[in-house]
Amino acid sequence: MLQRQMHERKVPTRDGELIGYVHSTESFGAVDGPGIRFVVFMQGCNMRCQFCHNPDTWRKNVGTEMTTDEILRMALPYRQFWGEKGGITLSGGEIMLQTEFALELFTKCKKLGINTCLDTCGQPFTRRQPWFDNFNKLMKVTDILLVDIKHINSDEHRKLTGFRNENILDMCQFLSDINKPVWIRHVLIPERTDFDNYLIQLGDYIKTLHNVEKVEVLPYHTMGVHKYREMGIKYKLDGIEPPTPERVKNAEKLLHVADYRGYLE
Ligand code: SF4
Repeated sequence: MLQRQMHERKVPTRDGELIGYVHSTESFGAVDGPGIRFVVFMQGCNMRCQFCHNPDTWRKNVGTEMTTDEILRMALPYRQFWGEKGGITLSGGEIMLQTEFALELFTKCKKLGINTCLDTCGQPFTRRQPWFDNFNKLMKVTDILLVDIKHINSDEHRKLTGFRNENILDMCQFLSDINKPVWIRHVLIPERTDFDNYLIQLGDYIKTLHNVEKVEVLPYHTMGVHKYREMGIKYKLDGIEPPTPERVKNAEKLLHVADYRGYLE
């Protein structure tokens, strides 16, 4: 019954037009895919990553309601800065909780010749229908994905985020099978992800994929901690400091970061 209800979920509209729930936008994103990009951070996420620096994006069905045309009207004035590689990135929160909206926006982008990038953690991924059909359509209008792998070990992934990772790794496999370019990112957190055995496992896993253009190690930072205080949520990584430069270098070595140079082409 629950599954049926999920599949029959009504896509939100305003005056017959599809709307998305937007948390915020960034006009000159330089770290959210190739080139300079207009980045739309969507509202809503199922995961509860202990290190998340945007807990204010977690709640679903809140935020600014926007149509895809409204987003394009905001983004297009910046087009002159995008150059050959830049474009529009949909990020979050978790964008894949609003795949219908992403599909409509990216379909319009492709008609306008705009490069499209999805920044996702993959948690909603499933091969069940109709979700998977919609995802396939979305992939046809998506040029590249940024995929965060939070932890290679599923039990540890659950402790860190609240969810297991099997379907996320299945998404990575699917993207490799259809040869969709991805950049993989991994947050390095002392006492959580910064263990050589897990980094070696993750490095080996990434090597099995055929579509990886870039691998990035993102050192854990504490910049979002004040939001937890403001929102009255317990911060679970209290006392954990960012990793040292040596540990970051070590992680980059174990994840074979230097081997992935496709993003330079
Ligand atoms: S998936 Fe992203 S937005 Fe969601 S909790 Fe984790 S870090 Fe935060």
